[in-house]
Amino acid sequence: MSVTISIQNVNEIADYSEFECMCVFDDKADDKCPTCSGTGKDRFPNYKWEMNLANGNFYQFWNSLALPHAVEYGGSIDARIVLDALKGYDCELNVRKERVSKGENGATMIECGTDLNYAEMRFRQLRDMATEAEKREEMIQWG
Ligand SMILES: [Zn+2]
Repeated sequence: MSVTISIQNVNEIADYSEFECMCVFDDKADDKCPTCSGTGKDRFPNYKWEMNLANGNFYQFWNSLALPHAVEYGGSIDARIVLDALKGYDCELNVRKERVSKGENGATMIECGTDLNYAEMRFRQLRDMATEAEKREEMIQWG
């Protein structure tokens, strides 16, 4: 599961990611494929003002900013509150070590860590998004 943070009422597409469709076999696409209509390419838009984080990464980042959140359904917040939280923010607050443990059935559980480069990238993305949202007088939303 993941959480997407974006600017409310803004859906500008930056570019597209293109992948080989699941229907392709021996370099041939299925003419009747409902996903690609036989082109063999599956295309996804990348939205300019959107960031997607794994649930754990979202809550860690959001909590380190001391921002309020609704656990199950997402929500929205005034971009100026986000910008205030980012002022003087220490990206080290969003760093955690990788953790490997054993699950109940002996399965190996891996929690990916967050390094400083990742934390700084997320900081810049949210700062740029909140700056743009403030300019457009729109809310920051997540869900
Ligand atoms: Zn296909």
